[in-house]
Amino acid sequence: MIRTHRAGELRRENAGESVVLTGWVSRRRDHGGVIFVDLRDSAGIAQVVFREGAPAEQAHGLRSEWCVKVTGEVVERPEGNANPDLATGEIEVVATGVEVLSESDTPPFPIHGSDDIDSGVDESTRWKYRYLDLRRAGPAHALKVRAKAVSVIRRVMERHDFLDIETPYLTRSTPEGARDFLVPVRLQPGHWYALPQSPQLFKQLLMVAGLERYYQIARCFRDEDFRADRTPEFTQLDIEMSFLDEEDIYALTEELFVELWRETLGVELTTPFPRLTYWDSMRRYGSDKPDLRIDGLELVDLTEHMQGTEFRVFQADYVGAIVVPGGADYSRKDLDGWQEWARSRGGKGIAWLLVPADGGELRGSITKLEADRLGSLPAATGAKPGDAILFAAGPRRTTLEMLGALRNAVARQRNLVREGEWRFVWVVDAPMFEEVSSDNPAVADQGARWTAVHHPFTAPTEEWAENFHDDPENALARAYDVVGNGMELGGGSIRIHRREMQQRVFDVIGLTRDEAESKFGFLLEAFSYGPPPHGGIAFGLDRLAATLAGTDAIREVMAFPKASSGGDPLTGAPTPVTEQQRKEAGIDVRPDGLS
Ligand code: ASP
Repeated sequence: MIRTHRAGELRRENAGESVVLTGWVSRRRDHGGVIFVDLRDSAGIAQVVFREGAPAEQAHGLRSEWCVKVTGEVVERPEGNANPDLATGEIEVVATGVEVLSESDTPPFPIHGSDDIDSGVDESTRWKYRYLDLRRAGPAHALKVRAKAVSVIRRVMERHDFLDIETPYLTRSTPEGARDFLVPVRLQPGHWYALPQSPQLFKQLLMVAGLERYYQIARCFRDEDFRADRTPEFTQLDIEMSFLDEEDIYALTEELFVELWRETLGVELTTPFPRLTYWDSMRRYGSDKPDLRIDGLELVDLTEHMQGTEFRVFQADYVGAIVVPGGADYSRKDLDGWQEWARSRGGKGIAWLLVPADGGELRGSITKLEADRLGSLPAATGAKPGDAILFAAGPRRTTLEMLGALRNAVARQRNLVREGEWRFVWVVDAPMFEEVSSDNPAVADQGARWTAVHHPFTAPTEEWAENFHDDPENALARAYDVVGNGMELGGGSIRIHRREMQQRVFDVIGLTRDEAESKFGFLLEAFSYGPPPHGGIAFGLDRLAATLAGTDAIREVMAFPKASSGGDPLTGAPTPVTEQQRKEAGIDVRPDGLS
């Protein structure tokens, strides 16, 4: 064995032992005759002392990030010299020899003393030199938390007899509704694999196969526009089970989360998580991912109150408001700030009304509203003297969403978010369909009006089972999302296992029999062999791990993340291919042989 101990694991109990350690020179301090080296390995840092003689002479030449092997003896530090900030702070290692295993160039950013993830080094430099970035304690910690989370996940899944099964990466289009990444096929020029957007169809096939309980920590690929919280490849904890209902999924998820939070953060979560229907969540919080750490600040629906008004601003499909406690102290500048905020989000603006603390006259941008409507607004919204009322009006859904975003922004501005708490909620009974938007390329070209909100294998709720096709706008699905502190951490659904019902969904989303056959024929065929009732859920593992590691950024829990431009600063991917590669891969060949 090359070493006897890990440097970061040495404790007072090791005093008196002879040790051989390996690691990196984190820092070297030359105090005349005595040289101190902070030696770092994956377990932490130990202080090595080189006193006079040959070892000290050797230590003179050591430089930061050189990889070394040190021989020495562990001694207790003299009284008063212990370092309480270091796990090994009660001891030091008196070196008898040092061997240089490899030298290092000066790193592009300092590694010693920059343990925090946010060290000010710019991201693309960090990803380009990720192997140096991960020598820092903070970034390495994030990956360790992820590994711990995966280990807890496997334990919980195995306890419940779930089988870990791999599904193909080279496959055909899956139904999650984003663009596919395509892979040319050399042996069949003009034919392409798609990388899976999720293992959805395969996990359903495994249920037809009678395996009953499947899980996988699966890589998924979606060719979407780049955003701060999105990467083209990401990982899901993917789960499917047979003979279940929603309660099975909720119980399993809650058990999993309890253990994840306990073992990575030492936090005891309260279960069961509360449940909200999608529309209650939209109505009350203007979001399907409500942040329940914010007390109150619920949306007030004033549509009825404004019925028949002459005041143009409030002649709208939906009128709503939030009450800002103590908001009567808003300055004109604050209120203009909210206007700008609303416009930058594509909204028309925010109307406002201040309810003076001294009981004086209402002030605001809507004082031209009919007097009785205006006067009764504090009562209608529950605003008290000293509060402000902020209004938005317009089409129902977008206005609800605007007020939901306003709720979050106001809560942040006025410190109304209970930081440090964990608040989870199930959002259930989501709409089955939504109107096709032209920016969804996967559906826009089908010329259909409706698309499945979750995916087209999601079952309707019991009351919509027979008639969802007559009223797609209002039909509800047996779909559920688990939301924590305002983040969607996972989502899934109970699936359709009856062919006739599946056909009606395809009809609504404008998928002809032939199209359905060519896209999902293999699944539909499997469904003709006695499919069991089944359902499942998938969790964004990157988001989950980032949350447990205490960061907002999913890239921190990826070993080699891509930059927000989608490129990989480390390897330089993606790159152009050569003419030869194009030819071999058959990139320019059409399936009909024409070019
Ligand atoms: N396949 C779905 C997704 O990736 C999750 C599920 O329905 O289980 O969002």
